[in-house]
Amino acid sequence: MSAVEGLEARIAPPTSAPARRRPAWHAATVAAVSPETPNARRIVLDVPTWPGNDPGQHLDLRLTAEDGYQASRSYSIASSGTATSVVLAVDRVEDGEVSPFLVDAVEVGDALEVHGPLGGWFVWRPGVSDRPVQLVAGGSGVVPLAAIATAHAEAEDPAPFRLLYAVRTPDDVFFRTELDRAEAAGVDTTVVYSRRAPDGATTPAGRLTRDALAAAVFPPDAGALVYVCGSTPFVEQVLTWLGELGHDTTDVRAERFGGSA
Ligand SMILES: Cc1cc2nc3c(=O)[nH]c(=O)nc-3n(C[C@H](O)[C@H](O)[C@H](O)COP(=O)(O)OP(=O)(O)OC[C@H]3O[C@@H](n4cnc5c(N)ncnc54)[C@H](O)[C@@H]3O)c2cc1C
Repeated sequence: MSAVEGLEARIAPPTSAPARRRPAWHAATVAAVSPETPNARRIVLDVPTWPGNDPGQHLDLRLTAEDGYQASRSYSIASSGTATSVVLAVDRVEDGEVSPFLVDAVEVGDALEVHGPLGGWFVWRPGVSDRPVQLVAGGSGVVPLAAIATAHAEAEDPAPFRLLYAVRTPDDVFFRTELDRAEAAGVDTTVVYSRRAPDGATTPAGRLTRDALAAAVFPPDAGALVYVCGSTPFVEQVLTWLGELGHDTTDVRAERFGGSA
């Protein structure tokens, strides 16, 4: 292969990468709701005009009250690919304006609006690179990472994958079935329980520490792409620790869900 051919091979878009989908507003209907955790709900939307989305992308969801008042919030998409069925998982933020409504009040058949797909940076596509991938999630921050892990497993992608998931108790684990499937397909998974560990666990419950992070994630010299998602304080803490442990911050992509310390 000549130098030019080699360069072309490196910069040509992989055939498996879809063209970037232009974000737009879409009418959506709630197709299904189910409890995800005691505090969160899975919501499946039927969006007939949805163009599909990459693993890791999000959308803006807009509610309109009868008096015309509107409120919108961002939600990561737990599904990916070309399906027009879009899966979300919403955690109830006490005193929040939108999330309690989505968790407690939205019903099958309700009409909503969504804008997306959004986000071109916090995405991972199967078949594009064989670099190791490190996923680090806190609580509901696992939603886009579950989409990535599922896409990796379904594509039988050969890239080494690890997931570190920090969550309060076993009951608070999102997407347990999907994460179990991803683990069975090779995603090396560590769950850290901050308040209550499962019966028989060898590690007692406790907040994620820098040492626990260092033990669970790929070492800095593995060249892993790192995706971190969760509440803003969780993401900031993990980013600080990754930097202290010697990870190249240009390899780290972060999505902050909000909240303050
Ligand atoms: C790109 C992106 C993707 C997101 N994906 C998801 C998702 O998949 N699932 C999900 O449940 N949420 C997700 N969020 C958070 C979501 O957009 C809302 O912020 C959240 O649902 C709270 O909205 P609210 O209207 O109930 O609260 P608000 O009325 O907006 O806020 C009420 C109070 O809660 C605090 N607060 C807001 N968000 C959080 C939070 N996440 N944690 C702790 N405190 C908070 C605010 O600072 C405020 O003090 C995402 C956010 C972003 C930016």
